[in-house]
Amino acid sequence: MKELEYDVLENGSLVNKVTIKNIRPCIATEGKVRVLMQLDSPLGDVISSLVTIYPPGKVNYVKKKKILTLSIYGRLITLYPSGKITMNKTLDKEDAIEIITDVMKAINQAYDNLESSADSKTTEKVKSQDISQIGPLDIYNCLPQTDCEECGEKTCMAFSFKVLSGDKPLDKCLPLQEPWNQEQVQCLEKLLGRQMMTTLGWEGY
Ligand code: SF4
Repeated sequence: MKELEYDVLENGSLVNKVTIKNIRPCIATEGKVRVLMQLDSPLGDVISSLVTIYPPGKVNYVKKKKILTLSIYGRLITLYPSGKITMNKTLDKEDAIEIITDVMKAINQAYDNLESSADSKTTEKVKSQDISQIGPLDIYNCLPQTDCEECGEKTCMAFSFKVLSGDKPLDKCLPLQEPWNQEQVQCLEKLLGRQMMTTLGWEGY
């Protein structure tokens, strides 16, 4: 097929254009397509920073190869350090461009975060590379563990699963906002870092 180039963003700090290089039938879902795309800039280390923009339950990060697969918008989107992207379960090219535009905004945000963490010499960049390994038990260990149901879940463990998958914001645990639970908040900050706390819906910053 003829390659199709799209100018989707105007002032992105890293990526602004995407080229659809190939469209093939999707093996996973009949009637949908798999799209191969190329961004106008390589991603390199930005991929590890991008891990903190999405809830850990939606992320599979192969650290050794710096390959990130996002399970978002009902499909799998895989990003490579070269700027290559594959997207399955997609309706058509218009659908692919709509979704990739959102991902490109996240990429630019991750790039900005990486730049500012380099400036401030924080450890956030290092932390982001391990964040996709965090499991529900890690979150649970930092929660008040009273099973009070104020978040709408029957148990703190059920809440942990929903937070990790991005289905429930962290600040729905109202007891975390009480002054006597600040140790738990610090525990979460140490585990997740501030960027991931914000990604998971903590409004306290
Ligand atoms: S509101 Fe917080 S402490 Fe209460 S059940 Fe939910 S997660 Fe646990």
